[in-house]
Amino acid sequence: MNKFQILVVEDDPPVRNLITTTLKAHDYRYIAVAAGEEAIMEMASHNPDVILLDLGLPDLDGTEVITRIRSWSNVPIIVISARSEDSDKIDALDAGADDYLTKPFSVDELLARLRVTQRRLALMQNGGVTQAVYENGKLRIDYASSCVYIDDNELHLTPIEYKLLCLLAHNTGKVLTHKFITQSVWGSSWDNDVASLRVFMATLRKKLEAAPGSPQYIQTHVGIGYRMQKVE
Ligand code: CA
Repeated sequence: MNKFQILVVEDDPPVRNLITTTLKAHDYRYIAVAAGEEAIMEMASHNPDVILLDLGLPDLDGTEVITRIRSWSNVPIIVISARSEDSDKIDALDAGADDYLTKPFSVDELLARLRVTQRRLALMQNGGVTQAVYENGKLRIDYASSCVYIDDNELHLTPIEYKLLCLLAHNTGKVLTHKFITQSVWGSSWDNDVASLRVFMATLRKKLEAAPGSPQYIQTHVGIGYRMQKVE
């Protein structure tokens, strides 16, 4: 039995059935509800490991559910949204969601997102995000000396590239929106900054990635943001 318990919040019965059938087939434990208030109650009483949250719920807006849960819990939240709701996805991520699935999604996509979340959870639990040295695949960040290495080769990063890399590393496994990144790095978020962000990300990747065209570490989410992936 998989020890992870998942809270499924989805009001559309066919989608909810697809999710719960998949979870059952892969030995996940789950609780399924169809509304936001119910989700908050189940969250408080069962303390699940992961929440799969549809954004379009009959009673509450999904983003409101995230904001309320985030007032007391860091539980990973994967939102499920319809393809037309790009801005909703961004609002949900800014409210504290970790990742998203876009409808219609496949069983493989669902399982892949859950694996990413489980790795992120493991990293959070063994203190990997708060240690003095960050290690991910061949990448190593020594926070005390502000040095970054790939294998044993030191990367020469500009202060902004370093800040960007640390922000992504601290949030490994989590999708960060353009707005969140620009606010964290520059303290503002104008459209101008998103254009600058792309430029800095390109120069960072050139130094970091063996093949910048197919990046291993920093994943692009078009129109949304970036994520540091856990590399085996
Ligand atoms: Ca819905």
